[in-house]
Parts: sequence; structure tokens; C-alpha cells
Amino acid sequence: MEKNPYEIAKQQIEIAARKAGIDDTMVEWLKKPVRELTVNFPVKMDDGTTRIFTGYRVQHSMARGPCKGGIRYHPDVTLDEVRALAIWMTMKTAVVGIPYSGAKGGVICNPKEMSQGELERLTRRYTSEISIIIGPERDIPAPDVYTNPQTMAWIMDTYSMNKGYSVPAVVTGKPLSIGGSQGRAEATGRGVMFTVREALKHLDYKVLAPNQWHKRIKAEKKNDGDEGTGYRIDSATVAVQGFGNVGSVSANLLRRKGAKVIAISDSKGGVLNPEGLDIDKLVEYKKRTGSVLDFEDTEKINGMDLLELECDVLIPAALENQITEDNADNIKAKIVAEGANGPTTPKADKILFEKKVFLIPDILSNAGGVVVSYFEWIQSLQQLCWIERDVNVKLREIMVNAFNNVLEVSKEKKVDMREAAYILALKKVAEALEIRGVYP
Ligand code: NAD
Repeated sequence: MEKNPYEIAKQQIEIAARKAGIDDTMVEWLKKPVRELTVNFPVKMDDGTTRIFTGYRVQHSMARGPCKGGIRYHPDVTLDEVRALAIWMTMKTAVVGIPYSGAKGGVICNPKEMSQGELERLTRRYTSEISIIIGPERDIPAPDVYTNPQTMAWIMDTYSMNKGYSVPAVVTGKPLSIGGSQGRAEATGRGVMFTVREALKHLDYKVLAPNQWHKRIKAEKKNDGDEGTGYRIDSATVAVQGFGNVGSVSANLLRRKGAKVIAISDSKGGVLNPEGLDIDKLVEYKKRTGSVLDFEDTEKINGMDLLELECDVLIPAALENQITEDNADNIKAKIVAEGANGPTTPKADKILFEKKVFLIPDILSNAGGVVVSYFEWIQSLQQLCWIERDVNVKLREIMVNAFNNVLEVSKEKKVDMREAAYILALKKVAEALEIRGVYP
């Protein structure tokens, strides 16, 4: 039960709703997705056979605006997982204050064993199946685990072909050439970096004020958008689980801001170098070899052991249920920043809180992706093209503001950051439902 993500999401709502003073009927309403679509559909495979796949699209809420949420391709996708991910999207969009509600999609498949042609046909048919409930004003998908800008391009094209004109605002996380946003690919990792930096400041770590690193920043990318206002991390060690979009960008940006990334893992295992890893080189290496294993000057470490390393910041950025009651007591990091959705179970949350580990919950820490998706959607609707610097500056403002709002609730109510984020989010969603009323 403890590891069923939907049960966990409902539990998280119940715990926070009590402290937020939300009544029982509202809690029942908030725990149930408003709409769930299951689709079973055929795809022609390269060997001439036809296989039947199952996919889902769950819309958790419509209270605060159109539905928004990624699409996951993974053999372990379940309806309950998609429900949980949809709930977390509702909470996430409310925490950062953007006018969306939560949704999520998934297809049970193993993309690692499928050709590009098979993935394209699967994506196009799945899009066609769920097109009865998605659309720029209704529900806007984006990438998640094992889907990427190419997947979004196929969705956008399929949806557009059926409309007879281009509808770029139907998805976000698109390639730049068809209306994607500058900064979207790095947005989730950049958001993780901003929240980690705020947490380090809060915990009195050595973070240098702007004038102290002004010279050093000049050597960094000009369009970073962080000059003069941010703070540089100067003493933190970081371990990252997962080296996909979220893990690799979080690691890279934290390193650029001065942190030392000592360990990284992917689905095949992990690598460790206490002196710090060159993340740019590691990204190249993984692209070439398919894994981080055997990267130069590293020793091999077991993926689960990485979680228990002595370090300042631990970033689980792979999948759910990684920090559980079985290993929470062994976590030595001072800060856990959840790049992934749902990496920590409620029992582990309690153990970490008692150990005074500062946890930045997923619905805050990894919200950067949906924030820039929101920017992309705005640009697609209005045929605008923002420059990367503007995207990054706006993202920083929203993430830093959200972090400090959650921190304030956590201090005021004497609860951990997850409960604080839920209290904040639930109040906003409940208020929206209340003010809209019950139809008819
Ligand atoms: P991705 O497909 O780009 O990368 C996933 C990574 O996890 C890969 O490197 C894979 O090797 C690794 N991995 C898988 N199983 C692992 C294991 N057992 N141990 C260690 N590593 C493992 O996916 P992503 O987009 O980076 O998403 C990662 C997580 O972040 C997911 O929980 C996703 O829901 C969440 N997330 C993603 C975004 C986004 O914008 N992409 C936004 C918010 C949250």
C-alpha cells in the first residue's frame, strides 16, 4: 500500500488538508480525478506484427485553469501512477501560482526496445485516441520519463493534421523549430538549482553574494539570466540519482554555480569521484556509451548506495519510491531536493523530518518544467518568441518566490516543507472550487 503512488498522493492530501482547515467533502473531491481515459490501441511493429498497447490520460482537476501534465512511456506505467502524477501536477501548478490544473498521461511500453518508427506510430495513434480530451484550452501534454521534444513534435503534428492547421499550443516541450520555448529543456533542472540554492541560504551555507562572484559569472553563459541577483554556492557537495533531463541539468547548473557534484547514477549503476565530476564531459560520455558507467577517474557505486552517501545535497531525479522507510534512516544528506516526482514515501518523509533533513518537495523543487511550459504555451498562443534570458529571469522569480512562500508556511505551522507546500496548494485549489461553486 505504502508504495502505490495514488495511495501516497491521497495520504499527502489528507494530512495537509487537516492543517489547512479544509472540510471532508472538499477533501473527497480533491482526492478523485475528474476524468480518466483508458485507451487500448494497435501499433504496427517493424517485424510486420501488430501489438496492442494500453495508455491513459487522467485529468485530476479543472479548478484553476486548463489541465497540464506530461506523458510517460514506461513498462511499469499504471493507472494509479498516472492518477498520482496528475494530482501532483494540480498541487505543483498551485504552489508556483500558474493558472493550470493537473493532468498526466502514460503508455505501458518499453521505449528502449522500440525503434524510432515504432515509437512514432505509437505516439501518433495514442495522440489520436486521447485527442477527444486534449487541446490548447483543455489539456496540454508535455514530456516526462522516456518522452522528449521529438515525441511532442509527433503529438503536435498528429493533432494539427486532424484540425487542418498548425496547433503549436497543444503541447509544450516542443523543439524550438516548431514553437518550443528557449530554456524549456533546462527548465526543470534550473528550477531544482534555484530551490537548492535558496535552501542552502536558509540553512546558512556559504553562498557568496553577487559582488563576490561578479567576475567569475562573466565567464558563464551571458543568457543565464542570473547575473547580479543570484547567489553562488561555494561549498556544497551534491549526489544525483538519474541522469536524464532533470538529473543532468540539475547537476550541471549546480556545478556551474560552484557546487561539487560527487556522484551520479542512471538505470545501469552509479559513478563516484569525491573531487567532483566534470558534468559536461559526462553528458557527452553518456550520449556516446548509453550509460555513466566506467567514466574516467571514477569508481563504480551501486545506484541505491548513492542515496546514502555523505553529501550536502541529494537529488533523486529518476523515479518514484526511492527513499522509503527501509533506507531513510541511512540518508546522510542535509538537503534532499526532489527532482523526480514522488521519490520519497510518507513514512520516509517522517523519518527524514525527525533527522532534520531539509526536504524540498517535488511539487516545489521540480516545478520549473511546468513554469516554462506555461511560458511556452503563452508564446504558442500569441505567436511570440521570448529570449532565453527573459525566460530564465522570470523562472527564477517564480521559483524563489514559491520557495519562500512555502518556507513561511512551514515555519508558521511548524510542519515540513512538503506539508507546507500542500497546505498552500490545497487552499488555492479549494478556494477556486468554492468560488466556482457546484454545477448545476
Ligand atoms: P528522463 O527519461 O530524461 O531520465 C530518466 C533518468 O532516470 C535516466 O537517466 C535513467 O537512466 C534514470 N533511471 C531510471 N531508473 C533509474 C534507477 N533505478 N536508478 C537511477 N537512475 C535511473 O526523465 P526526466 O524527464 O529526467 O524525469 C525524471 C523524473 O523527473 C521523473 O520522476 C519525472 O516525472 C520528473 N520530472 C520531469 C520533468 C521534466 O521536465 N522532464 C519535470 C518535472 C518532473
